[in-house]
Amino acid sequence: MNKTKCLIIGSGPAGYTAAIYASRANLAPVLIEGMQPGGQLTTTTVIENFPGFPDGITGPELMENMRKQAVNVGADVRQGSVTEVDFESYPYKITLDDGSVIDADTVIVATGATAKYLGLPDEIKYQGMGVSACATCDGFFYRKKIVAVVGGGDTACEEANYLASLAAKVYLIVRKPYLRASKAMQERTMSNPKIEVLFEHNTEGLYGENGVEGAHLVKRKGEADEKHYDLPIDGFFLAIGHKPNSDIFKKYLKTDETGYFVPSDESGVRTIIPGVFVAGDVADPHYRQAINAAASGCRAALEAERYLSHK
Ligand code: NDP
Repeated sequence: MNKTKCLIIGSGPAGYTAAIYASRANLAPVLIEGMQPGGQLTTTTVIENFPGFPDGITGPELMENMRKQAVNVGADVRQGSVTEVDFESYPYKITLDDGSVIDADTVIVATGATAKYLGLPDEIKYQGMGVSACATCDGFFYRKKIVAVVGGGDTACEEANYLASLAAKVYLIVRKPYLRASKAMQERTMSNPKIEVLFEHNTEGLYGENGVEGAHLVKRKGEADEKHYDLPIDGFFLAIGHKPNSDIFKKYLKTDETGYFVPSDESGVRTIIPGVFVAGDVADPHYRQAINAAASGCRAALEAERYLSHK
């Protein structure tokens, strides 16, 4: 059926939570999974800060559980990606990558965010040949090898620690003279004997015959003691933040300068288009935590239900 009272775009914690609430409110929601079913958490290791799991739970397992729960309460979870939206006509029209169009009375956009790259041509040249933005997906290939992680936030530290459990040596390339990560994560990283933090370093390029064999680095760029040198490595991991997946909605919905949705009121989920709601990381430049994403998915579904009952 290509008509629904509630269409949910995205399958991270926000999307699945919205699907659970919308199903239980008898909205018979359709959820479109997107290009990475389960979202960003499928690329993490153990999650210790999602309440309800005293011993932690892996990201893929948590997302599979959320998916099952959404399906069990009646959500229609479909594979595919949204390529276009039309919020001018009503019901709203959502086009998928197979060319089909779904008519929706309400839409919840929970499309999450995608890993950022430095923008070096070498990142494209060596993609899949030593360059990765997901340590937990690709770390396995670097057992007993030497790798570098770029970034100084929680993600970079988490990935460096994860890689240190597999690789022989991990360099953490940090552009500032300090880490931005939480205190606990900083301590874990600095005390890991396999991790060497290279503060005030930037990457200028990569080299290698049939894959990454090293990185061209610059230390203290622009200073009197600026130094250029090559660091032999087998793998180069990016962990420098994320870009919100909001591009196809920008024509209709307000975003900030980075592309995060700006909700229209204190609900945090309503937008200037009646019946269109935003939830999760795509609308959250600050916290970006699974529990917050889930909570906003809940709010979006409750608002969708209220909107339909008032209509
Ligand atoms: P952040 O934005 O926190 O950090 C990005 C890091 O990448 C910063 O150190 C930044 O440097 C660096 N960076 C950005 N652009 C470049 C560039 N062009 N060249 C070199 N370095 C660059 O992103 P994270 O993904 O680490 O974290 C996002 C949010 O998720 C945070 O709120 C974090 O706390 C949270 N998080 C929590 C976790 C947990 O609780 N277990 C795990 C992972 C993330 P600079 O500092 O110089 O700007």
